[in-house]
Amino acid sequence: MTKGELLYEGKAKQVFATDDPALLIQRFKDDATAFDGTKKSSISDKGVVNNAISSQLLALVDKGGVKTHFVRQIDDREMLIRSLDMFLVEVVMRNVAAGSICRRYGTEEGITFAEPILELFYKSDPHHDPLMNREHVIQFGLCTAPQLDEIETSARRVNEILSEFFTSIGITLVDFKLEFGIAGGEIMLGDEISPDTCRLWDSETGKKLDKDRFRFDLGDVEGAYQEMLARVTAGSDGA
Ligand code: UDP
Repeated sequence: MTKGELLYEGKAKQVFATDDPALLIQRFKDDATAFDGTKKSSISDKGVVNNAISSQLLALVDKGGVKTHFVRQIDDREMLIRSLDMFLVEVVMRNVAAGSICRRYGTEEGITFAEPILELFYKSDPHHDPLMNREHVIQFGLCTAPQLDEIETSARRVNEILSEFFTSIGITLVDFKLEFGIAGGEIMLGDEISPDTCRLWDSETGKKLDKDRFRFDLGDVEGAYQEMLARVTAGSDGA
Protein backbone atom coordinates (compact mmCIF):
# COMPACT_ATOMS: atom_id res chain seq x y z
CA MET A 1 0.00 0.00 0.00
CA THR A 2 1.54 3.29 -1.11
CA LYS A 3 0.74 6.46 0.83
CA GLY A 4 -0.40 9.30 -1.45
CA GLU A 5 -1.21 12.96 -1.01
CA LEU A 6 -2.76 14.60 2.04
CA LEU A 7 -6.46 14.94 1.17
CA TYR A 8 -7.84 16.41 4.35
CA GLU A 9 -6.59 17.70 7.68
CA GLY A 10 -8.92 18.01 10.65
CA LYS A 11 -8.35 18.97 14.27
CA ALA A 12 -7.12 15.56 15.40
CA LYS A 13 -6.48 13.59 12.21
CA GLN A 14 -5.10 13.70 8.69
CA VAL A 15 -6.42 11.65 5.77
CA PHE A 16 -4.15 10.53 2.93
CA ALA A 17 -4.89 8.93 -0.43
CA THR A 18 -3.49 5.51 -1.31
CA ASP A 19 -2.83 3.83 -4.66
CA ASP A 20 -6.27 2.17 -4.26
CA PRO A 21 -9.08 4.76 -4.72
CA ALA A 22 -11.32 2.73 -2.39
CA LEU A 23 -8.86 2.99 0.50
CA LEU A 24 -7.46 5.86 2.56
CA ILE A 25 -4.98 6.26 5.40
CA GLN A 26 -6.17 7.93 8.60
CA ARG A 27 -3.33 9.41 10.69
CA PHE A 28 -3.91 10.39 14.32
CA LYS A 29 -2.27 13.60 15.61
CA ASP A 30 -1.45 14.68 19.15
CA ASP A 31 -3.29 17.99 18.66
CA ALA A 32 -6.24 18.53 20.98
CA THR A 33 -9.00 21.11 20.70
CA ALA A 34 -12.09 21.79 22.78
CA PHE A 35 -14.93 24.27 23.11
CA ASP A 36 -15.46 24.74 19.39
CA GLY A 37 -11.72 25.03 18.74
CA THR A 38 -11.16 27.88 21.21
CA LYS A 39 -8.99 25.74 23.54
CA LYS A 40 -5.98 24.28 21.73
CA SER A 41 -3.03 22.25 22.89
CA SER A 42 -1.37 18.94 22.34
CA ILE A 43 -1.46 15.74 24.39
CA SER A 44 1.74 13.72 24.21
CA ASP A 45 1.20 10.45 22.30
CA LYS A 46 -2.58 10.97 22.07
CA GLY A 47 -2.40 10.02 18.39
CA VAL A 48 -0.71 6.73 19.20
CA VAL A 49 -3.23 5.94 21.94
CA ASN A 50 -6.28 6.91 19.86
CA ASN A 51 -5.08 4.93 16.83
CA ALA A 52 -4.59 1.82 18.96
CA ILE A 53 -7.86 2.17 20.89
CA SER A 54 -9.83 3.05 17.79
CA SER A 55 -8.39 0.11 15.85
CA GLN A 56 -9.41 -2.30 18.60
CA LEU A 57 -12.88 -0.82 19.12
CA LEU A 58 -13.71 -0.54 15.41
CA ALA A 59 -12.69 -4.20 14.99
CA LEU A 60 -14.90 -5.10 17.97
CA VAL A 61 -17.86 -3.22 16.46
CA ASP A 62 -17.31 -4.95 13.11
CA LYS A 63 -17.28 -8.30 14.89
CA GLY A 64 -20.54 -7.33 16.58
CA GLY A 65 -22.23 -6.92 13.22
CA VAL A 66 -21.95 -3.20 12.43
CA LYS A 67 -19.86 -2.60 9.33
CA THR A 68 -17.10 0.01 9.79
CA HIS A 69 -14.50 1.68 7.58
CA PHE A 70 -11.65 0.02 9.49
CA VAL A 71 -9.42 -2.27 7.41
CA ARG A 72 -6.29 -2.66 9.56
CA GLN A 73 -3.82 -0.79 11.72
CA ILE A 74 -0.74 0.17 9.69
CA ASP A 75 1.60 1.48 12.38
CA ASP A 76 1.46 3.33 15.68
CA ARG A 77 -0.25 6.42 14.25
CA GLU A 78 -1.98 5.20 11.09
CA MET A 79 -4.84 2.94 10.08
CA LEU A 80 -6.06 1.83 6.66
CA ILE A 81 -9.72 2.67 6.12
CA ARG A 82 -12.34 2.41 3.39
CA SER A 83 -13.10 5.68 1.63
CA LEU A 84 -16.64 6.78 2.59
CA ASP A 85 -18.87 9.66 1.53
CA MET A 86 -19.60 11.00 5.00
CA PHE A 87 -23.05 12.17 6.08
CA LEU A 88 -22.92 15.61 7.69
CA VAL A 89 -24.58 14.23 10.81
CA GLU A 90 -23.01 13.42 14.15
CA VAL A 91 -24.83 10.81 16.22
CA VAL A 92 -24.39 11.05 19.99
CA MET A 93 -25.49 8.16 22.20
CA ARG A 94 -25.94 8.92 25.89
CA ASN A 95 -26.23 6.40 28.71
CA VAL A 96 -25.43 8.79 31.56
CA ALA A 97 -25.94 12.56 31.70
CA ALA A 98 -22.82 14.67 31.10
CA GLY A 99 -21.62 17.50 28.90
CA SER A 100 -23.94 19.43 26.63
CA ILE A 101 -27.16 17.68 27.71
CA CYS A 102 -26.57 18.97 31.26
CA ARG A 103 -25.86 22.50 30.02
CA ARG A 104 -28.87 22.42 27.67
CA TYR A 105 -31.52 21.08 30.05
CA GLY A 106 -30.03 21.47 33.53
CA THR A 107 -29.84 17.67 33.89
CA GLU A 108 -27.69 16.60 36.83
CA GLU A 109 -24.37 15.05 35.76
CA GLY A 110 -24.17 11.33 36.49
CA ILE A 111 -27.88 10.48 36.20
CA THR A 112 -28.29 7.18 34.31
CA PHE A 113 -31.02 7.38 31.68
CA ALA A 114 -33.75 4.69 31.74
CA GLU A 115 -33.00 4.09 28.04
CA PRO A 116 -30.02 5.34 26.01
CA ILE A 117 -30.74 8.71 24.39
CA LEU A 118 -29.81 9.20 20.74
CA GLU A 119 -29.13 12.76 19.57
CA LEU A 120 -28.38 14.11 16.09
CA PHE A 121 -26.12 17.10 15.39
CA TYR A 122 -25.45 18.98 12.15
CA LYS A 123 -21.74 18.60 11.37
CA SER A 124 -21.03 22.21 10.47
CA ASP A 125 -18.26 24.27 12.05
CA PRO A 126 -19.72 27.63 10.92
CA HIS A 127 -23.00 26.73 12.67
CA HIS A 128 -21.23 25.23 15.72
CA ASP A 129 -22.65 21.71 15.21
CA PRO A 130 -26.24 22.44 16.33
CA LEU A 131 -28.61 19.79 17.69
CA MET A 132 -31.13 18.63 15.06
CA ASN A 133 -34.14 16.38 14.99
CA ARG A 134 -34.94 13.72 12.38
CA GLU A 135 -37.05 16.11 10.32
CA HIS A 136 -34.21 18.63 10.03
CA VAL A 137 -31.76 15.92 8.98
CA ILE A 138 -34.08 14.52 6.31
CA GLN A 139 -35.50 17.81 4.98
CA PHE A 140 -32.08 19.45 4.82
CA GLY A 141 -30.96 16.45 2.75
CA LEU A 142 -28.18 15.25 5.06
CA CYS A 143 -29.43 11.71 4.41
CA THR A 144 -32.68 9.96 3.46
CA ALA A 145 -35.21 8.64 5.97
CA PRO A 146 -34.32 4.98 5.32
CA GLN A 147 -30.61 5.84 5.67
CA LEU A 148 -31.30 7.60 8.98
CA ASP A 149 -33.27 4.58 10.20
CA GLU A 150 -30.28 2.37 9.44
CA ILE A 151 -27.82 4.82 11.04
CA GLU A 152 -29.91 5.01 14.22
CA THR A 153 -30.26 1.22 14.43
CA SER A 154 -26.48 0.86 13.97
CA ALA A 155 -25.71 3.55 16.56
CA ARG A 156 -27.87 1.77 19.16
CA ARG A 157 -26.18 -1.54 18.34
CA VAL A 158 -22.73 0.09 18.64
CA ASN A 159 -23.80 1.34 22.07
CA GLU A 160 -24.72 -2.21 23.13
CA ILE A 161 -21.41 -3.63 21.86
CA LEU A 162 -19.28 -0.90 23.43
CA SER A 163 -21.20 -0.74 26.71
CA GLU A 164 -20.76 -4.47 27.24
CA PHE A 165 -17.04 -4.24 26.45
CA PHE A 166 -16.38 -1.21 28.66
CA THR A 167 -18.33 -2.78 31.53
CA SER A 168 -16.00 -5.80 31.26
CA ILE A 169 -12.97 -3.54 31.81
CA GLY A 170 -14.49 -1.60 34.70
CA ILE A 171 -15.47 1.47 32.69
CA THR A 172 -18.84 3.21 32.40
CA LEU A 173 -19.52 4.33 28.83
CA VAL A 174 -21.20 7.65 29.59
CA ASP A 175 -21.67 8.94 26.04
CA PHE A 176 -19.96 8.97 22.66
CA LYS A 177 -20.16 10.42 19.15
CA LEU A 178 -20.33 8.47 15.90
CA GLU A 179 -20.07 9.50 12.25
CA PHE A 180 -21.38 7.37 9.41
CA GLY A 181 -20.72 7.35 5.67
CA ILE A 182 -21.55 5.33 2.60
CA ALA A 183 -19.48 3.40 0.04
CA GLY A 184 -20.88 1.26 -2.78
CA GLY A 185 -24.38 1.83 -1.42
CA GLU A 186 -23.43 0.40 1.98
CA ILE A 187 -23.67 2.49 5.14
CA MET A 188 -20.67 2.11 7.44
CA LEU A 189 -19.37 3.59 10.67
CA GLY A 190 -16.43 5.94 10.02
CA ASP A 191 -14.18 8.29 12.01
CA GLU A 192 -12.81 7.00 15.35
CA ILE A 193 -13.85 5.62 18.72
CA SER A 194 -11.45 6.93 21.36
CA PRO A 195 -11.19 8.93 24.59
CA ASP A 196 -11.50 12.01 22.33
CA THR A 197 -14.99 10.97 21.24
CA CYS A 198 -16.29 9.04 24.28
CA ARG A 199 -16.83 9.90 27.94
CA LEU A 200 -15.34 7.08 29.99
CA TRP A 201 -15.59 6.93 33.78
CA ASP A 202 -13.96 4.36 36.04
CA SER A 203 -16.91 2.28 37.29
CA GLU A 204 -15.57 2.11 40.87
CA THR A 205 -14.14 5.56 41.47
CA GLY A 206 -15.93 7.65 38.84
CA LYS A 207 -12.53 8.98 37.68
CA LYS A 208 -12.80 10.59 34.24
CA LEU A 209 -10.52 8.84 31.74
CA ASP A 210 -11.30 10.86 28.61
CA LYS A 211 -10.99 14.24 26.94
CA ASP A 212 -12.84 15.98 29.77
CA ARG A 213 -9.49 15.88 31.64
CA PHE A 214 -8.17 18.18 28.90
CA ARG A 215 -11.37 20.24 28.52
CA PHE A 216 -11.56 21.06 32.23
CA ASP A 217 -7.86 20.95 33.20
CA LEU A 218 -8.35 17.96 35.52
CA GLY A 219 -4.66 17.02 35.29
CA ASP A 220 -2.71 13.96 34.11
CA VAL A 221 -4.39 13.88 30.70
CA GLU A 222 -1.62 11.69 29.23
CA GLY A 223 -1.88 9.24 32.13
CA ALA A 224 -5.63 8.87 31.64
CA TYR A 225 -5.23 8.17 27.89
CA GLN A 226 -2.48 5.63 28.61
CA GLU A 227 -4.62 3.95 31.26
CA MET A 228 -7.50 3.63 28.80
CA LEU A 229 -5.16 2.11 26.21
CA ALA A 230 -3.87 -0.45 28.73
CA ARG A 231 -7.39 -1.38 29.84
CA VAL A 232 -8.82 -1.61 26.31
CA THR A 233 -5.86 -3.71 25.15
CA ALA A 234 -6.14 -6.06 28.13
CA GLY A 235 -9.91 -6.35 27.53
CA SER A 236 -9.49 -6.98 23.79
CA ASP A 237 -6.84 -9.64 24.39
CA GLY A 238 -9.22 -11.44 26.71
CA ALA A 239 -12.16 -11.15 24.29
N1 UDP B 1 -18.20 14.67 20.87
C1 UDP B 1 -17.22 14.55 19.91
N2 UDP B 1 -17.09 15.53 18.96
C2 UDP B 1 -17.90 16.60 18.92
C3 UDP B 1 -18.91 16.74 19.90
C4 UDP B 1 -19.03 15.75 20.87
O1 UDP B 1 -16.48 13.56 19.89
O2 UDP B 1 -17.74 17.44 18.03
C5 UDP B 1 -18.36 13.62 21.89
C6 UDP B 1 -17.92 14.09 23.28
O3 UDP B 1 -16.57 13.76 23.51
C7 UDP B 1 -18.84 13.31 24.19
C8 UDP B 1 -20.12 13.13 23.36
O4 UDP B 1 -19.74 13.31 22.00
O5 UDP B 1 -18.29 12.02 24.44
C9 UDP B 1 -21.20 14.10 23.72
O6 UDP B 1 -20.68 15.40 23.67
P1 UDP B 1 -21.57 16.63 24.19
O7 UDP B 1 -22.75 16.82 23.27
O8 UDP B 1 -21.89 16.43 25.61
O9 UDP B 1 -20.67 17.90 23.96
P2 UDP B 1 -19.50 18.55 24.82
O10 UDP B 1 -19.90 18.58 26.25
O11 UDP B 1 -18.33 17.68 24.56
O12 UDP B 1 -19.39 19.91 24.22
